[in-house]
Amino acid sequence: MQYRKLGTTNIDVSAICLGSMTWGKQNTEAEAFAQIDYALDQGINFIDTAELYAVPPEAKTYGATETIIGNWLKRSGKRDEIVLASKVCGPTDWCPHIRGGKSKPDRTNIFTAIEGSLKRLQTDYIDLYQVHWPDRNTNYFGKLGYEAVDNEASTPIEETLAALNELVTQGKVRHIGISNETPWGTMQYLKLAETYDLPRIASIQNPYNLLNRSFEVGLAEIAHREQVGLLAYSPLAFGTLSGKYVDGALPQGSRLTLFSDRYSRYSNPEGVNATRRYVELAHESGITPAQMALAFVNGKSFVTANIIGATSMKQLKENIGSIDIALSDELLESIEAIHITQPNPCP
Ligand code: NAP
Repeated sequence: MQYRKLGTTNIDVSAICLGSMTWGKQNTEAEAFAQIDYALDQGINFIDTAELYAVPPEAKTYGATETIIGNWLKRSGKRDEIVLASKVCGPTDWCPHIRGGKSKPDRTNIFTAIEGSLKRLQTDYIDLYQVHWPDRNTNYFGKLGYEAVDNEASTPIEETLAALNELVTQGKVRHIGISNETPWGTMQYLKLAETYDLPRIASIQNPYNLLNRSFEVGLAEIAHREQVGLLAYSPLAFGTLSGKYVDGALPQGSRLTLFSDRYSRYSNPEGVNATRRYVELAHESGITPAQMALAFVNGKSFVTANIIGATSMKQLKENIGSIDIALSDELLESIEAIHITQPNPCP
């Protein structure tokens, strides 16, 4: 395993982070425990979760993933060996089961959310507490371009930071991060932290994969120059980059088969076409499509960790194994050639 510094903190995190959002829905507690045990054996020390999980979000499974992780922490006694990341929701008008659909990253909601997370996780601190998505009208969750909207009501980032600062002071949170943020939002967090002596963000968790490299446009430079590294989520574009859905296949039990109405982000015609080309390229290169896609993410200098997700031990082994693969210059050039003709088909 490789290890990288988490922002300007003194924490070394594994370059592969274990994603968890299927635990409690597609995966049972026993399966999640087996995943965590195996990942730790492979040198992974970084687990990402959120109050929102399991996904797709629904009242029945809200907090279920954190509960599973908490049970594992209690059973194993290995809290000290894990860098544990969780998240507080952004505005939840589309999730009425979360604080009546009225959550946002203000002081009241952050204070309520952290108590729930700490209880479910059976710990008294979270290493990295992230704001899951912004509370303002901007471009994230599949929206590429920004469009201005007047008279929007949003929580000032300064209020969010001040609330998080209280949690850091209380020892409930060690470091803070953002997620689904834009270049403007990221720079605001940094500026306000410096101006008002508030906590500095250690990371930004955004989507990054062969079908969506929009992070490279404005955020990669910030990640590099400001030491706010990317925690790349959906590195397999919901599993599509494994090639399992090529030619319209819908394998039983897989995410897009189970939740086709919900997860269409990587299934538009341009994305499907680009996917086929990446999958063919991997096969020609004698590497599995999933490992090529993951090794591509692992190899980026602005990436602190690649947050993998798996629903089986076979997938988990293949995905963690990507850390031992370095893509040749020739293969990287072939990837660029596809990217240039079909850039970011699935933002
Ligand atoms: P992903 O890598 O794009 O998709 C993972 C899914 O692809 C698996 O659950 C599995 O689903 C399938 N898969 C994985 N490995 C495979 C393989 N080798 N061969 C074939 N299929 C494979 O990642 P993700 O699950 O979307 O996201 C990973 C983590 O990032 C999450 O657990 C979460 O911690 C984080 N995340 C954060 C946000 C955010 O807003 N901050 C959003 C999304 C995710 P099936 O078996 O069902 O096909």
